[in-house]
Amino acid sequence: MMNMTQPIKHRSWAEPYKIKMVELLQMTTREQRERAIKEAGYNTFLLKSEDVYIDLLTDSGTSAMSDRQWAGMMLGDEAYAGSKNFYHMENVIQNYYGYKHVIPTHQGRGAENIISKVMIKPGDIIPGNMYFTTTRLHQELAGGTFKDIIIDEAHDPDNLFPFKGNCDLGKLEDVIKKYGADKVPYVCIATSVNMAGGQPISIENLKAVRALCDKYGIKIIHDMTRVAENAFFIKQREAGYANKSVAEIVKEICSYTDGATMSAKKDALVNIGGFLATNDDHVYEEASNLIVVYEGLHTYGGMAGRDMEALAIGIVESVDDNHISARIGQVEYLGQKLIDMGVPIVQPIGGHGIFLNAKKFLPHIPQTSYPAQTLAAELYIDSGVRTMERGIVSAGRNKETGENYLPELELVRLTIPRRVYTQAHMDVVAESVEAVYLERDKIKGLEMIFEPKYLRFFMAKFEKLK
Ligand SMILES: *Cc1c(COP(=O)(O)O)cnc(C)c1O
Repeated sequence: MMNMTQPIKHRSWAEPYKIKMVELLQMTTREQRERAIKEAGYNTFLLKSEDVYIDLLTDSGTSAMSDRQWAGMMLGDEAYAGSKNFYHMENVIQNYYGYKHVIPTHQGRGAENIISKVMIKPGDIIPGNMYFTTTRLHQELAGGTFKDIIIDEAHDPDNLFPFKGNCDLGKLEDVIKKYGADKVPYVCIATSVNMAGGQPISIENLKAVRALCDKYGIKIIHDMTRVAENAFFIKQREAGYANKSVAEIVKEICSYTDGATMSAKKDALVNIGGFLATNDDHVYEEASNLIVVYEGLHTYGGMAGRDMEALAIGIVESVDDNHISARIGQVEYLGQKLIDMGVPIVQPIGGHGIFLNAKKFLPHIPQTSYPAQTLAAELYIDSGVRTMERGIVSAGRNKETGENYLPELELVRLTIPRRVYTQAHMDVVAESVEAVYLERDKIKGLEMIFEPKYLRFFMAKFEKLK
């Protein structure tokens, strides 16, 4: 019989699903990996997926769909116009997120392109809680300039503040006063800020941003790519939210904003797709006009009917409390292991992955010799684990001066796909990071030998420094 006086120390979480089908992985030798990464110009984006064992490059489009989503694929209505899957998806978005108008796009950047073209005039300023690569590029291509208004804590990888995605209201008001409210078409608010390490914004801060924007008549556009993960952190960390469901919190977050861009390839559990949502009839009209130029008719916008059906089902699954607590539980499991090993990572542990602090990991490599790019290559060589640079290469150059941005954060992102890997995979990853960490003194930096003009991190090539 159980001894009731014995307190229960720890209860494990486990996945709220079981495995129905498996995908076999290729195992490689160290020699094969050394050759492969050299051929890829020491850029993990240029590796062949076949040469990768555990793929933590991104959580984008890499999730495992459920049996229900796969069944939904068979219900695809591939009509050119007015597919029934569009109406199902529109209905789910309206119910779960509360936005009025919905336009499908091929993925998040399709929506960013359209919203930027509709709302931004040359010379405009777009404040945001940290830049995101494609978001800022589309703002710039539309003639705008991005201004970072995230709190300073977000730029400090060791600061334990629980809401490092928050906006600094002082910085926001300074930008509005300096340029004038008529130059600020909207404030771009990301939930679970990707480039800060998957850090959440609080409801309290979001409400304050709303109030400030209302004072100046400025709209808020929500980058809602990881809204469910953000909502889970609010449930865990913000007073008054412990007993609300993730679904309720998601809807409340959306209610403080005027529209959204969504990469459905992240939280919404599909392999491709996205949408633009807006409460503004005029923006909707303009956007549905542009969508036929860049994406497709406004009832498919670059998506197949079957993909819209899978997305409609994925949204519902994504806001389920059991799903999201296991998803974030797995990320925390890996993060805690690395912390226990003494490896420098961004804290608090974020929603979609672990971010290694490459400046601390490889302090002997200057930022101009790409410590994060170097570390990503070394991890691949050690174990076939593929990760991504999020530092000076990703930050790119200032569009006016041509100078390299030198971001505070020089990170390697270990992004965890949703519902794909097991805890044993996480153990292998942690042990590989530890092995590289123990040999860190021997690692040398890289030199860039090819630099593309836009979003250079995708295709840049490097050579090892002698
Ligand atoms: C991935 C992402 C995007 C762009 O979406 P795509 O589907 O890759 O085009 C925009 N914002 C954030 C925060 C993202 O993570």
